[in-house]
Amino acid sequence: MAAIELRNVVKTYPNGTSALDDVSLDIADGEFMALVGPSGCGKSTLLRVVAGLEEITSGEVLIGGELANGLPPNERNVAMAFQTYALYPQLTVYENIAFPLRVAKSSSRREIDRLVRDASRTLGLDDVLQSKPAVLSGGQRQRVAMGRAMVRDPQALLLDEPLSNLDARLRSELRAEIAWLQRCLGTTTLYVTHDQSEAMALGDRVVVLERGRVQQIATPRDLYRHPANLFVADFVGSPPMEFLPSTVTGDVVEFSFAWVRISREKAARVHGREQLIAGLRPEHVRLEELAGTDHQYARIPLDVPPGVPDYLAEYERELASGPRLSLDPRGDYTRRFLERGRDDVYVNAKSLHLFDPATGQNLTRDLV
Ligand code: ADP
Repeated sequence: MAAIELRNVVKTYPNGTSALDDVSLDIADGEFMALVGPSGCGKSTLLRVVAGLEEITSGEVLIGGELANGLPPNERNVAMAFQTYALYPQLTVYENIAFPLRVAKSSSRREIDRLVRDASRTLGLDDVLQSKPAVLSGGQRQRVAMGRAMVRDPQALLLDEPLSNLDARLRSELRAEIAWLQRCLGTTTLYVTHDQSEAMALGDRVVVLERGRVQQIATPRDLYRHPANLFVADFVGSPPMEFLPSTVTGDVVEFSFAWVRISREKAARVHGREQLIAGLRPEHVRLEELAGTDHQYARIPLDVPPGVPDYLAEYERELASGPRLSLDPRGDYTRRFLERGRDDVYVNAKSLHLFDPATGQNLTRDLV
């Protein structure tokens, strides 16, 4: 096991495509780091850079505290798996796990046997060692693939969208399995996915990448509660954060349909600006204004357009003034809202994120 560190890594492909633009991140020994971002943002490139399959243009890659720049993949001892359950169908579970050891030719028969049986015990595969992959469940295949990656005792495990081609049920089953295995094995892991909910469910921390640049590195909770910018705020969370164009004067933030008074700290942060984008998580929409709050709450009139089927109205209500506001379908508020047939809701100034429309930066990241 080892820590992995990238310092100011730049990767520009020969055709001029900039895939990684000054990327710095550190993965602690034993940590599960999820790397997430839209297609083409540089995730696979970053993984290949750590594996040694891709030369970097500039910067440093450290594995276990040692500079790995220029080291070929086989000297890095990191295990990489694309589709973790792509096993050799003609080989038994035992032979599938032993395969990398036989190829490496560095262990005796006895040693190989010991390593395979150790892995099999840890992974709960003793009963199926002589079976072929075809008769295994999805979860068992996943374990075999992990066993195969683990027998060489890699410094780190690199997983590239391992669940991307599976159906939703198997996907969530294997997701839980991967999390469990990683905790058991304690191997430093970098897990690439384009699915934010997968990254949030699995990562001790999550790196959000966009156009080759790190947008934020944080625990799932921090990413959700304190997004660094508009991109992260929009990318993380389902249903997504709502964005409302607004203007600010002193401590008053005005939307097209209502206004609200923000705290002194927040007002200081946005001082000198006129235009802002206010961001609101759906679960922060409330049904009642709390008494005596001095315009901490803005009343938002809602208007359900005619012809919208109920099941859609449940998720979205049109604001009278135009922009849409989604209500969290899981939220207590939404249920009560629907039961009572309300035509207005309230927004607490405390739960508003305020973004700079030009840079996208969250000006109030730590104040929500
Ligand atoms: P992701 O894994 O997030 O989808 P990639 O790392 O595959 O992103 O790609 C990042 C960017 O680099 C994309 O614009 C992609 O088209 C480009 N790219 C990837 N591989 C190559 C290559 N071998 N040559 C040129 N451009 C590439």
